[in-house]
Amino acid sequence: MILTNIMALKNNYIWILYDKNNSCIIIDPGESKIVIKEIIQKKWNPKAILLTHNHVDHTNGVENILKKYPKIIVFGPEETKNFHVNEIIKGGDKINLLEYDIDIISTPGHTLGHISYYLKPYLFCGDTLFSAGCGKVFKNNYIKMYNSIQSIKLFPNNTVLCCAHEYTVSNLIFSMHFLPQDKNIKCYYKKIQKKIFLKKNIFPFFLNHEKKINIFLRTDEFFLKKSMGFKKSKDSFEIFCYLRKIKDIFGAKRD
Ligand SMILES: [Zn+2]
Repeated sequence: MILTNIMALKNNYIWILYDKNNSCIIIDPGESKIVIKEIIQKKWNPKAILLTHNHVDHTNGVENILKKYPKIIVFGPEETKNFHVNEIIKGGDKINLLEYDIDIISTPGHTLGHISYYLKPYLFCGDTLFSAGCGKVFKNNYIKMYNSIQSIKLFPNNTVLCCAHEYTVSNLIFSMHFLPQDKNIKCYYKKIQKKIFLKKNIFPFFLNHEKKINIFLRTDEFFLKKSMGFKKSKDSFEIFCYLRKIKDIFGAKRD
């Protein structure tokens, strides 16, 4: 099983998993042209599309990919039923594709029906977590988003987060606003700036590293609370809500 990604739209990652027979699975195709071009070039045989949630920048490519490859099975949560989904799935389900078991994890918060896909060590977490950040909370689902992020934190440390957007630089700038002296964040910021300058891919994002540099995974930390002017006893969930609401204004990114 080999994992690759295509950068699409402004900052979307479209993930592709393929096996030795060149059969492939496409995750969250927000556009079709670039995906079809890649499938033809690499001589892949697309078997399935997996959708994490119902936003158009994750689903817009489905229709045209299906026109070209009508045998593809499209999996998604209930909220994606109008995007040509033929297998509705939910948290706790298991699907078998390319001879691999994939666990469906319920990760609501960004949208109410958001799901993630886990094929060890890869977690396709859509707009729940990004490197050094997390997705926007729509419809006031703060507690759901917080719980989803806490549940991801419990995955094995070597889990590879395959998130759906590339916002790492702006997320780290936001983090340094609160933790300007944090060695891990500063060091990572320098490292990825260099990679971006050299036009290198900054993936992979390992969960154990994210636990050090992603402040949305560190909302229970004393240093973070202190730097924000809160007492040690301040609840981790309240810190999360506070940070996420400021981030909405600070970054002004849609997701
Ligand atoms: Zn979204």
